[in-house]
Amino acid sequence: MKRKENDPLRAAGDRLAFFQEMGADFVLGRGMKAPDVSAATPDAVRAAEPVCIPEPLVVSVPASAFPPPPQISFPELEEKVLSCRLCPLFSSRTRAVPGEGDKGAELMFVGEAPGRDEDAQGRPFVGRAGQLLTKIIEAMKWRREEVYISNVVKCRPPDNRTPLPGEVEKCSPYLVRQIELIRPKVIVTLGKVATDFFIPGRKSIGEQRGKFVDHQGIRIMPTFHPSYVIRNEGNKEIKKMVWQDMKLVMEFLGKK
Ligand code: URA
Repeated sequence: MKRKENDPLRAAGDRLAFFQEMGADFVLGRGMKAPDVSAATPDAVRAAEPVCIPEPLVVSVPASAFPPPPQISFPELEEKVLSCRLCPLFSSRTRAVPGEGDKGAELMFVGEAPGRDEDAQGRPFVGRAGQLLTKIIEAMKWRREEVYISNVVKCRPPDNRTPLPGEVEKCSPYLVRQIELIRPKVIVTLGKVATDFFIPGRKSIGEQRGKFVDHQGIRIMPTFHPSYVIRNEGNKEIKKMVWQDMKLVMEFLGKK
């Protein structure tokens, strides 16, 4: 059967394909198979929805000692980021990347730092990792424009290296102020750099993911960075874990 661009069944099929990719058979329960994507019907989509959501475990940590950021408005903040020269990354960037999305979002995603595509376009998560993040957001039943997406560091480190502690420190007031202005209910931290920003420590993402941590009244959900998921394409367990984490976020925010 030929289907139109915005055909709901086609969208349902795409969603099912994504559930399958993320481990829908696991989500459905042991022994159950994800329905055939090519024959997607609304019932098949409902059947692929998560059915068993474990109780989120909330661990409290003391609020981190970030320096208070300047009490500036969102437009002022974006302007400051775009012309920032607080660390040496300004000299190699094409564009700084403040972040984008709904400035009143209940859900925020925080990554590490812009990569090559982000540096070229001035927008966060627009490369390969960004395409996967967009798929994840849509599988969670939000549109990309309905959440806020940002990074710990707003300029691309040379060769996509991990940002240095000094770069994170200099850039931190921007993210702290973004969070103060947005006041999301949940922040999903993508990978170690973003997670360390809120929950510094020696634990790996594998140890930290899957449970909320309270940060000044906001729930932080650490999960694997989409680039890590892509680098380990063949490892279904990683995709399943990311999807489990996202289901906890959906459950907490009442997304059905
Ligand atoms: N990786 C990140 O951490 N952030 C981006 O914006 C893109 C890739």
